[in-house]
Amino acid sequence: MSQSETRATALALYPEDSREAAALLKQAIPLMVRHNIPPNPVHYALWYTYSKGLDPELNRHLDRVVKDFDCFPPESATRLFRDYIIRDELEEARAGQQQAINLVDDMQRDVSRSVEGNLNFQSSLGRCLEMLESPVNERLPGILSELQQSTQLMHSQQEQFLTQLHSAQSEIKSLRSKLERAQLAATLDGLTELLNRTAFTRLLEQALSDQSQGVALVMLDIDHFKQFNDQYGHPLGDRVLQHVGQVLRSSLPPHATAARYGGEEFCVILQHCADLASAAVFAEQLRVKVQSLRIKARVDGKVLDTITASFGVAFAQPGENMDSLLTRADDALYQAKRAGRNRVHR
Ligand code: GH3
Ligand code: MG
Ligand code: MG
Repeated sequence: MSQSETRATALALYPEDSREAAALLKQAIPLMVRHNIPPNPVHYALWYTYSKGLDPELNRHLDRVVKDFDCFPPESATRLFRDYIIRDELEEARAGQQQAINLVDDMQRDVSRSVEGNLNFQSSLGRCLEMLESPVNERLPGILSELQQSTQLMHSQQEQFLTQLHSAQSEIKSLRSKLERAQLAATLDGLTELLNRTAFTRLLEQALSDQSQGVALVMLDIDHFKQFNDQYGHPLGDRVLQHVGQVLRSSLPPHATAARYGGEEFCVILQHCADLASAAVFAEQLRVKVQSLRIKARVDGKVLDTITASFGVAFAQPGENMDSLLTRADDALYQAKRAGRNRVHR
């Protein structure tokens, strides 16, 4: 999906101007802080919609979740996001499927009508030929005109069928692009446009099920990001996340996929990877690129403090499952943090 399409979808959902949006965020953020809810795009979207009061059912759900849990469980957030925020896109895709089914039914009806026409034509033709073999009599003109009518009917039915076929083709084209848009919206992280955690997990599981290829996992976490947010504010923090996402996207070797795993945590899956050492070399290149980022504040053009990240790398052992690989990468990342940050551990 192009960036402008992403924006068009978002604008349709949230038509308010920046002043109204800021007022809504002012209500949403204290609520998130009060309930200890990590500020990530899924949570922002949920609490923003909550403050907007668009859907009383969503508000009731959120009220119930914060009442029942000390912390906001990530799977509840993902489920609510799917059921309330991108529900329309998913419904649209489903409705699209129904339309396609109706279309195919119509076409089938037309084809059988056309076949019926053909049969009429054939039997008229057969009778005509029979007549021609016997001496010409007074029934011949009637049969010939019957034959002519059948041919005309068949012709117009076939024309109708062709028109239907053309409209079906363009309908299917537009349905396919709607479906692709809805699928993309459900798999991408809104802020960085990398894969979201759900899509990442699915892909990693798939990669690990193919024993014939080497799979490595690089996990990175921005250093002291809380401090950065405190010093420069969340909007600038968000831009840092977008820049890091951009670095990942532009550095990927073939068969590699980047995802936003959590707030300021990212992952890269390296498929068809030779060994742990080559994955660590790739992680080291990323580390240098992140450290070299120079981000300017939009207001005064000042270059912000250097951003660094810590990296954990793990290479899947034969038959290793996803949880075990994630834990090993996470452990390595933890070691990198403990050893002083801005480094790669494996
Ligand atoms: P460490 O080096 O140990 O990783 O320290 P840290 O401060 O990066 O880690 P910590 O887990 O204490 O804080 C993570 C911070 O990331 C807290 C939260 O404000 C910030 N964060 C998470 N998601 C987002 C986001 O979507 N946008 C912004 N701006 N900040 C985010
Ligand atoms: Mg973290
Ligand atoms: Mg961090």
